[in-house]
Amino acid sequence: SPSQGYYTRRGGVGESGDFITSPEISQVFGELIGIWYISEWMAVGKPTTFQLVELGPGRGTLTQDILRVFKQLASVLSKCDVSVHLVEVSPKLSEIQAVMLTGGKVQPSPEHESVYMKGISKTGIPIFWYRDIQDVPPGYSFYLAHEFFDALPIHKFQRTEKGWREVLVDIDPEVPDQLRFVLSPSRTPATQNFIQPEETRDHVEVCPEAGVIVQRLASRIEKDGGAALVADYGHDGTKTDTFRGFRNHKLHDVLSAPGTADLTADVDFSYLRKMAQGKTATLGPIKQREFLKNMGIDLRLQVLLQNSGDTATREQLLHSYDMLMNPEKMGDCFHFFALLPHHRLVRPDKKDKPESKSPLPPVAGFNELLLK
Ligand code: SAH
Repeated sequence: SPSQGYYTRRGGVGESGDFITSPEISQVFGELIGIWYISEWMAVGKPTTFQLVELGPGRGTLTQDILRVFKQLASVLSKCDVSVHLVEVSPKLSEIQAVMLTGGKVQPSPEHESVYMKGISKTGIPIFWYRDIQDVPPGYSFYLAHEFFDALPIHKFQRTEKGWREVLVDIDPEVPDQLRFVLSPSRTPATQNFIQPEETRDHVEVCPEAGVIVQRLASRIEKDGGAALVADYGHDGTKTDTFRGFRNHKLHDVLSAPGTADLTADVDFSYLRKMAQGKTATLGPIKQREFLKNMGIDLRLQVLLQNSGDTATREQLLHSYDMLMNPEKMGDCFHFFALLPHHRLVRPDKKDKPESKSPLPPVAGFNELLLK
């Protein structure tokens, strides 16, 4: 809801908020993602310009860690024109992002412009804010969606003896101010449009908004080039009832005090893959611990441990590594998924030029990182 929704009213990402995310746990997470983009940029022959487009940037920590990597690799990127484009609906979080990334030096844009704020990062890169991915200008782009798709609204469906029914939210007639779940008495437009004919589960959650956004990303990548990295907790079309709420880091009844808790549902990567189909190739989902391992997290940890003098910092580094990588913590339930142009994975047939058939460089993260 634009007026009463959680992200427009509260949006409590971080230790003092309602839920904590990987970039808020460790700087290494964002650094390795920054290296993923550099590695893809090199693999396609170092285009002279690219946009980094983040959907739902939260506090801006992930972008900040990525921009630090870009600064450290300034000599590699020196001839490349980089800009940052943030898609954010929350006025409160966009303010926090502006302070984090620019030190607060931003200008609001005139009402009629689709970009609502502009600034320059502390590292000298132009940053633009939008409310919708459609407003981001076209061009070669690297997209990022970390814990974004799980925040978008879902439809819930239940298989019954009479066929599929939609799970709806109703006002409880017995208790004032109390919401309850009910089943639609008959089929609804959503049951008719969003359930796949081959569906075998009895309970299904579908996020059509995620489908539309993935279709848009795929079209943009097909037309202008680039790649999208999606990281979230989720499954590959196997889970059923995952809808839940978080408030002050504790599970919260989704039906009580709407707008005050973070509502979330696992991302169905099989649905995202279906939505991208035809336009781009996809990789993953691969478990977070495998992706980060392939990206060299162990080596990065060793370097940070060697460079840190005090015990408290070392303990903090080891603790955050464990949070990200432990299969019982975030290591197994979070996954990485990528959209890439078809030609990034399979070379177009060049029968007449067999000499140009050198192997394509592997995509980092989904394979071991090889930076030359
Ligand atoms: N990526 C961040 C934050 C994740 S929380 C991190 O990992 O820490 C989800 C983010 O998506 C918030 O920034 C929220 O304001 C934003 N968001 C939620 N719904 C959105 C929508 N429909 N369009 C754009 N941003 C949205």
